[in-house]
Amino acid sequence: MKILVIGSGGREHALVWKLSQSKRVSEVVCLPGNGGICQEATCVAGDAKSPESLLGAAHQIQPDITVVGPELPLSLGVVDEFARRGLRIFGPTQAASQLEWSKSFAKEFMQRHNIPTAHYAVCASEDEARKSLGLFSLPVVVKADGLAAGKGVVIATTKEEAATVAADMFSGKLLGSPSSRVVLEEHLKGEELSFLVLSDGERVAPLVAAQDHKRIGEGDTGANTGGMGAYSTGSLADEAMVEWLLNHIARPTITGMKSEGMEYRGILYCGLMMTARGPMVLEFNCRFGDPETQAVLMRLDSDLLEAIEAAIDGRVSDGVFKWSSDASCCVVVASGGYPGSFVSGREIVGLDRAAQIENVKVFHAGTSMLEGRMYSSGGRVLGVTARAPKLEDAISKAYEAVGCIRFEDMYYRRDIGARALKQPT
Ligand code: AMP
Repeated sequence: MKILVIGSGGREHALVWKLSQSKRVSEVVCLPGNGGICQEATCVAGDAKSPESLLGAAHQIQPDITVVGPELPLSLGVVDEFARRGLRIFGPTQAASQLEWSKSFAKEFMQRHNIPTAHYAVCASEDEARKSLGLFSLPVVVKADGLAAGKGVVIATTKEEAATVAADMFSGKLLGSPSSRVVLEEHLKGEELSFLVLSDGERVAPLVAAQDHKRIGEGDTGANTGGMGAYSTGSLADEAMVEWLLNHIARPTITGMKSEGMEYRGILYCGLMMTARGPMVLEFNCRFGDPETQAVLMRLDSDLLEAIEAAIDGRVSDGVFKWSSDASCCVVVASGGYPGSFVSGREIVGLDRAAQIENVKVFHAGTSMLEGRMYSSGGRVLGVTARAPKLEDAISKAYEAVGCIRFEDMYYRRDIGARALKQPT
């Protein structure tokens, strides 16, 4: 089978890598891909943000299945367009992916279906936001309604700050384009957990849980990023917890979407806060996370293509995934200055040495290849991922591999997974 993967980040590299291992896959094509992906798959140029351009590419490439990595093409209806033409594609429709692209829809949906989440108010104007702030204690979370690539959430410590942030979201000053709605939310305390499930619109199968590290600095300090690393172990969510999350969050969401006429097929990513009141949904994403996917797929022993086909064909069951009991750890190597301004075009050396370490895989995110040399081309450059029976060994293997790699101004956190080692297992 020929598979087309859409996207250009570390998540897409992990998808390409795992799909290539399937005995039934003869060719993987990636649009547009990156320097690392191009060494393992055929990369084709194209605009991943435009469903029309993707349809044109699919017409040329003739894939048996298309797998969509990022949220933007899903929110623009690429699945609807492909399905209308009888092309097999993996991911939710535009209406179903609202769970990610509209925070107000997601909050109201959760309320309708009794899915645990923080108290909230949806505001349609600056004035309404100011008035609603009276209902919240501090700190208060302010969220813009649309897709904002991680920049649409601000935790405000004063009401004045919250009102200013909301005003800047409405005017477009904060995100570049105006938000028509802003969600105010109760601030929750606890550990965050990424819980992903695969769904065929009715049934769900859980993936192993992972924990992301969103902040740029060690000890979870500094600015928010797309993610500086992740780890996954069996003890992050035990069997009883997974069952609870399936029964109270994943299944009611999938059933609720179906009952509202928006069948949800694909990956449903539940971003959770494990609070003293129990697990609560912070957000839904309608696709694999980045860099959690790198850590999660490193633990998958079965065929990802089989699972994807089961979701497309409506036959998801408990048996679609076989997971290793090993732990995994992904350390993101970024360009110095990220998530602010940074310099690209630095030559990356030592990748061959890193690749020789057993059970290590270096996933590329922002790289490009030129005349046989690899260069940085983005904020997050690599996701160095390792697997081992014990988390501490997966962590040290990942850092051993990072130690082989060099480029000017490279930056990475040295404490990925460290918090888990301090906790009793
Ligand atoms: P979101 O895009 O909604 O997941 O928000 C991004 C990040 O903001 C989350 O990963 C949390 O770290 C933080 N966050 C969002 N909502 C809340 C909340 N209600 N309470 C505490 N932290 C939150």
